[in-house]
Amino acid sequence: MKILKKNQISGPHKDLSIYIHIPFCEKICPYCDFNKYSKVDELIPDFTQSLIKEIQINSKEFKNSKIVTISLGGGTPSYINNQDLISVFDSIKNNYYLDDEFEFSIEINPADLDDSKLELYEEIGINRVSVGGQSFDNKILKKLGRNHDSEILIKSLELLSNSYIDNINLDLIFGVPSQTLTQWENSLKMFLNFSFPHLSTYLLTFEPKTKFYKDLNQRRIFEPKENEIINMFNLTKEILNNNNYSQYEISNWAKKDRESIHNLRYWNSENYLGFGPGSSSHIDGRRMKNISSLKKYIQLCKNKINPDELYSEISTMTEEEKMIEYVMLNLRLKKGIEHEDFQRKFDNVFTLKFRDMLEELNNNFLIKSNSKSTSLTNKGKLLSDYIFSKFTEEISL
Ligand code: SF4
Repeated sequence: MKILKKNQISGPHKDLSIYIHIPFCEKICPYCDFNKYSKVDELIPDFTQSLIKEIQINSKEFKNSKIVTISLGGGTPSYINNQDLISVFDSIKNNYYLDDEFEFSIEINPADLDDSKLELYEEIGINRVSVGGQSFDNKILKKLGRNHDSEILIKSLELLSNSYIDNINLDLIFGVPSQTLTQWENSLKMFLNFSFPHLSTYLLTFEPKTKFYKDLNQRRIFEPKENEIINMFNLTKEILNNNNYSQYEISNWAKKDRESIHNLRYWNSENYLGFGPGSSSHIDGRRMKNISSLKKYIQLCKNKINPDELYSEISTMTEEEKMIEYVMLNLRLKKGIEHEDFQRKFDNVFTLKFRDMLEELNNNFLIKSNSKSTSLTNKGKLLSDYIFSKFTEEISL
């Protein structure tokens, strides 16, 4: 017989994911446009109490839900101390019904990892670790403004390799100004040495409000040439495919059955709750975004709040918005858009609705379509933003 813990009730439960945003970093990387803060460590205790309060007040509405994944992201979740992390996890455990086997992942900075952190992760049930490595090349790490070098990265990966955790992801970035194909190749090969089941490869983008964006506009740094990006992209595919990794999403590679369950739930538009400043939630077509300001978040949580007061945006998606999101998220995935699924969801025949556009994209070798599904080709993955904008235009007409 299953023993129910506090706040766990019998009966059917809807699957739900939880994302927790820990917005602290030791220093700010010049390319980063996440909601993050550095040099405000004095706010961490108040932030932790606020987070716990937000987690508690939301739980009443979701008492019939079953938590199937929890993801700690940021910022840098490994930056906060062990006691704060235990308090946050206890508040989830005491207020939500956790599935018997839920994916529980944490993003870590290589410089933060040590034995005591690993012991804690094991104690609270963390079973997936994602390492923000970015590169094994010291020149590239310096350019990216990271607070670790290649030696620290390798040490942290070795520590993980010898630990209880076998579900490990590494993040690597390509398309960094001045990065050579050989530097990228070396990083990929270094990753292979560890035989981890998952790799995320991100193309660096120059987002407004970042230092890199300013540097680019003032010609202090230069974007890599298009053919350099294509070469890195193709090399990634060649090396990873040859080593049994499948590109199940544009930026994500996994060995068989080792995909990130939490991320797949985002891409499949499943329900999730976000806690912490700037985090987003999606519940049955309703989207909510928390206020981004850390200080305002703490201030609001100190008062008696109801969950809606923390949101800076609440919207119910229109059918058009749902379709745009569905097309974009599914085209990012290897399986692509399954025509029957599209028809079931939108009462519309995919191949008829987009007939002319599909023909044009097909003729340009950007998509591959058969009677059952449509997905991006290799060339299409490189030009995904263009393809998404074509679909968005067509749906918004
Ligand atoms: S550590 Fe991560 S979240 Fe923090 S500034 Fe760097 S890229 Fe952004």
